[in-house]
Amino acid sequence: MVQVCAGCERPILDRFLLNVLDRPWHVKCVQCCECKAKLTEKCFSREGKLFCKNDFFRRYGTKCAGCLQGILPSDLVRRARSKVFHLNCFTCMVCRKQLSTGEELYVVDENQFICKEDYLTKCQRKSFKPHYNLNSL
Ligand SMILES: [Zn+2]
Ligand SMILES: [Zn+2]
Ligand SMILES: [Zn+2]
Ligand SMILES: [Zn+2]
Repeated sequence: MVQVCAGCERPILDRFLLNVLDRPWHVKCVQCCECKAKLTEKCFSREGKLFCKNDFFRRYGTKCAGCLQGILPSDLVRRARSKVFHLNCFTCMVCRKQLSTGEELYVVDENQFICKEDYLTKCQRKSFKPHYNLNSL
């Protein structure tokens, strides 16, 4: 009996096949549906599609409130209130300095921050007003 590949739906005539999600696959068809990387050891699936770890978390993982991309388990994050940010996304919107926990900063928009120095400069110019102030996250 010839098995049909769950990926390309063509018969598997190769000597080796892989069983993924309880279905047979060509070895070459077991690849991430986003980046086409071969999934040799670990793969993640959702809705019958296969993903590499990075693409899986990018798509289905917790989203960063800054860039709205998924957060990978290996990413460093900052938490502010109920939100999670990539370390790189938790920056002052003016000088792009990375903000750290415990630092005085100001929330301008839901997900935008400004460091104290820039806040004071801007505020003196009265060019914008932050909604509220967050001390020591
Ligand atoms: Zn196939
Ligand atoms: Zn991938
Ligand atoms: Zn981010
Ligand atoms: Zn700044």
